[in-house]
Amino acid sequence: MNKLAQLDQKFVWHPFTQMRDWLRREPIVIMSGQGAVLRDVKGREFLDANSSIWTNLHGHGHPKINAAIQRQLKKIAHSSALGFANEPASLLAEKLAAAANSKFKNKNSKLEKVFFSDDGSTALEVALKLAYEFTRRRRGAKSKPKFLSLDGAYHGDTIGAVSLGHIDLFHQAYGGMLFKTDKVMSPYCYRCPFNRAEPERDDARKYRKCNWECVGQVEQKFSTQKKKGNPFAAFVFEPLMQGAAGMIPQPDGWLNRVAEITRSHGALLIADEVMTGFGRTGLENSKLKIQNSKFLFACQLENVHPDFLCVAKGLTGGYLPMAATLTTQKIFDAFLGEYEEFKIFFHGHSYSGNQLGAAAALASLEILQTEKSVRQRVHLQKNLHEELQTLWSLPNVGDIRQAGLVAGIELVKNWRTREPFALRERAGIRVCEAMAKRGVLTRPIGNVMVLMPPYCTTPAQLRKMVSAVAESVAELE
Ligand code: PMP
Repeated sequence: MNKLAQLDQKFVWHPFTQMRDWLRREPIVIMSGQGAVLRDVKGREFLDANSSIWTNLHGHGHPKINAAIQRQLKKIAHSSALGFANEPASLLAEKLAAAANSKFKNKNSKLEKVFFSDDGSTALEVALKLAYEFTRRRRGAKSKPKFLSLDGAYHGDTIGAVSLGHIDLFHQAYGGMLFKTDKVMSPYCYRCPFNRAEPERDDARKYRKCNWECVGQVEQKFSTQKKKGNPFAAFVFEPLMQGAAGMIPQPDGWLNRVAEITRSHGALLIADEVMTGFGRTGLENSKLKIQNSKFLFACQLENVHPDFLCVAKGLTGGYLPMAATLTTQKIFDAFLGEYEEFKIFFHGHSYSGNQLGAAAALASLEILQTEKSVRQRVHLQKNLHEELQTLWSLPNVGDIRQAGLVAGIELVKNWRTREPFALRERAGIRVCEAMAKRGVLTRPIGNVMVLMPPYCTTPAQLRKMVSAVAESVAELE
């Protein structure tokens, strides 16, 4: 076995990994990357079909991002945001706010204040704590703000973020450490308890006899909670596509309706765009007739103005760990006061506003706003849709779900009955292993295969990714 692989197996503990399985086989040791291609220590090439766990936007080794990091490195790598401002973080905050507000006319709903942190989980922790404290200041110090999120939600791995999540396996493991949050059904059309339609093989978003029961459930949740005398403080959601829940897209208009209900009950909206942000969910919403190549966030495509916008992963183009929580002047003002009142936001990280990350993020934002990148994304979305259609003929493909440049393919034992594979059958893992042998790397969510290509992926590379899924799923038989 390669020396680096040996060292890994001796010393490294991998995230979300059964290490007994890991130790059974030689790991792939990545040494370099260019565009959508990753190269390992043995010189083998693989396509990065999940953009390195949903982080990479423009491909690896992008000359503009590399140059921006190198330029910044000549000045300084890091100084603290606790006590000092810095050049790229100031510039980035302005650019992020401009991108997030490109749709907002109302000054009060503008996201103008940017709190930097390190990753998706911390971006959510920041929003959660701010919303909690803001609500207590509004409703009184004795109030106990409660949060609502979606069934199957995943918002990160820190304790606050896991508390917001509703994945049973994690709650079984850490239940005793978590605080209680409430959940409401997500619009998982393929397994909707209200809509017993035949499986739709041609269009995953087509559903019959739908009366928006899922939206009704949200209204009911808010009303019931209000009757208890403690209305929800905030609704936390991933807009347009729930990622780790199993790539569950929301029907066009769902979020808009749910946001209105949330507002009508006086609750705040916390948008987790850790996965969906920076163009991942495409540039248009055909049902709502919204199209704007400037839109980088999923909320904009549903005409939803959140009070908090949490971003990470793609913020730096997938080059460095950095996150941001954007919020409004109104939230910001609630934390102003005399020093001795101690109304400050008690939260901060050593690497907040890190210069290298901010420089990479500025370069990435600039690339995203070029016409070339917009065109690239439009073509990739279309090609992805076309390529995915070839998978419907596979008997183990139950559903294919796409939102812009991200797709989930749900594997089932029987497409007619939608019977799922038991998790212990490891269907998703087996397919990924077979794909790796074909030179394509991704990671499943249970039995849902994820395709999330970097924006620079060529049509031939995309075809190879989808063919690898097809051939590997066929081997399940
Ligand atoms: N929110 C969402 C929607 C995510 O997909 C993730 C990570 N997959 C997180 C939050 C947590 O991000 P991180 O892993 O960077 O902490």
